[in-house]
Amino acid sequence: MLVLVDLDDTLCNTWEAGRYSVLRLVPYLLRRRKFRAFFYILTARYRELEQLRDLHTLDFDKLVERVMRKVYAKVDRGELEEITELVDRVFFSNLRLYPDALPFLEGVRGLGARLVLITDSSTKWQRKKLEYLGIKDHFDALIISGETGHSKLEPHNFRLARHLFPDEEIYMVGDRDDTDMRGGKEIGATTILVQRGYFRGRLARHADYVVKDLLEALEVIRREHEKRA
Ligand SMILES: [Mg+2]
Repeated sequence: MLVLVDLDDTLCNTWEAGRYSVLRLVPYLLRRRKFRAFFYILTARYRELEQLRDLHTLDFDKLVERVMRKVYAKVDRGELEEITELVDRVFFSNLRLYPDALPFLEGVRGLGARLVLITDSSTKWQRKKLEYLGIKDHFDALIISGETGHSKLEPHNFRLARHLFPDEEIYMVGDRDDTDMRGGKEIGATTILVQRGYFRGRLARHADYVVKDLLEALEVIRREHEKRA
């Protein structure tokens, strides 16, 4: 039995912590008369970033730089560093595991499953989150898009997980339908969508189950596992 789990907005409150960062960024931008960047945030133009494949593997500072370069023809190095530092600091001071994350990880382990984290974004940023949240040792393997060079919009990382731990019984737990759920389906996993964070409320096209939290997800896995026994 193999359980694949996503990190951002599944195990921890990435979107919420990111929102705090952006809120803190607003007065900074206004003070420096960066009105175009302010409107970029205000009008939620960042949604256009969702489908950029290479963005899923970029480092955090590169991500900030990419956004600023979309808005401004010329970007000041010092200003860029200040913004990155501010966003990073506020982000990590607000980043938390969801209360059901540890019971879920321990529960899955208790069922005798192999546990693999499968997550987008850069190596440095994702490893810093894992370090900060203290959950790295719960996993048999970490598959990070920044390390494999493939985002979860492609099947590569899911196939890699199955290749590392070949198993007939696979579950994929995550919050995003067009990456976590679709990728899970690519390798024949039972897919469980946890509805929370940035993507909550989106259509679930590739999910076998839609649940409200990780305790429900654990129940689904337990039930399915018993059925197969
Ligand atoms: Mg996620």
